[in-house]
Amino acid sequence: MSDTKFCYCCRVHHPIEQMRLFPTRQGYRWRCVRSIDAAVKSVDEREAFGQQQTAINREAARRTAEFSQRLRHLRTVAP
Ligand SMILES: [Zn+2]
Repeated sequence: MSDTKFCYCCRVHHPIEQMRLFPTRQGYRWRCVRSIDAAVKSVDEREAFGQQQTAINREAARRTAEFSQRLRHLRTVAP
């Protein structure tokens, strides 16, 4: 039962098979696979959300442009 490493992320000891050396600002530190996976997943989700938001913004900008174009057109057509 001595093959454990202290996980700086969970602040508990995990079996060494679950541990990976992870680069941090303070250098390499032991971290468990589970916490690394969770962090990677949350980054993916954040990126997916960002892309979705960009698409929404682009669509909103396009509609605004279309609308103001139509207004301009109406003004030129109107007497
Ligand atoms: Zn951990």
